[in-house]
Amino acid sequence: MELLQPTSWEEALAAKAAHPEALPLCGGTDVMVDVNFARERPETILDLTRVAELNEVGTGDGTIRIGAGVTYTRAIRELGGALPGLAIASRTVGSPQIRNRGTIGGNLGSSSPAGDALPPLYASHAMVELASSASTRTIAVEDFITGPKRNVLAPDELIAAVHVPRARGPQQFSKVGTRNAMVIAVCSFAVSIDLEERTVGTCIGSAAPTPRRAREAEAHAGENLDWERRTTPSDATIARFGELVGRAADPIDDQRGTAAYRRHALAVMARRTLTWAWSACA
Ligand SMILES: Cc1cc2nc3c(=O)[nH]c(=O)nc-3n(C[C@H](O)[C@H](O)[C@H](O)COP(=O)(O)OP(=O)(O)OC[C@H]3O[C@@H](n4cnc5c(N)ncnc54)[C@H](O)[C@@H]3O)c2cc1C
Repeated sequence: MELLQPTSWEEALAAKAAHPEALPLCGGTDVMVDVNFARERPETILDLTRVAELNEVGTGDGTIRIGAGVTYTRAIRELGGALPGLAIASRTVGSPQIRNRGTIGGNLGSSSPAGDALPPLYASHAMVELASSASTRTIAVEDFITGPKRNVLAPDELIAAVHVPRARGPQQFSKVGTRNAMVIAVCSFAVSIDLEERTVGTCIGSAAPTPRRAREAEAHAGENLDWERRTTPSDATIARFGELVGRAADPIDDQRGTAAYRRHALAVMARRTLTWAWSACA
């Protein structure tokens, strides 16, 4: 197996252009599992761990630019104020060891419907920055992931960063697993309240081929929350929100849970997270 170890972003992009078949490795917490279980037998690995540019976090124009190599541990430590939903979701990932190695860029690269960083990114309308040695493009995270473990990365491209609007209101994330830690989500849900735009962003995890926004639920919450006085919403408003989130899912039965359980759990998580988030607006 050939191992390419660029030490700068420019070198990394040049290496990917010269070796489009090379499998990028950031924290390796997905790649090495696939190699160990012989699901991947890459001839070439592009090790990105020495590319310092990927570890940068930048702020500007109300948006946080998170380099693809930023770990969950750093998201928890550094982004809790600006992006609370992402920080809460990061706390649910794996164990301390996985959170120290695993990256936001790797979660995007794996494009699993169960990736825990993804629902908060969808709920906040994040944009993914992709680069090749020839050009850079930025696309909505919803357009980046196209199916289970599939995305639009071209063979000569790498994920440079994700751009996430700074929270303009409370955010929440909730995850159901078969135990409390070190667990792949049975299903998950993220909500993001934008007090300036008076909108609610949502995303369902692990209950459709990709993470998925619950758009009808978003519209319902936007229309029925009392943005002026921020009073407690009626039980009917909250219940309808949960129902619409459950209906937006397209879950399957598998070893982690049934489709019916996932829909039920999503409705419960949606009701809870909206209640928690809205009560923080008072
Ligand atoms: C024990 C264990 C527990 C886990 N628990 C969770 C959990 O609770 N929640 C969760 O969401 N995940 C979990 N994971 C999965 C994994 O940790 C995450 O998906 C993590 O975000 C992957 O990041 P990484 O940097 O390790 O990615 P890597 O393994 O390095 O890469 C993952 C994929 O992304 C590609 N890639 C990486 N960086 C780039 C880049 N810059 N450009 C283009 N492609 C790139 C790789 O080629 C590969 O396809 C767990 C894994 C393990 C082993």
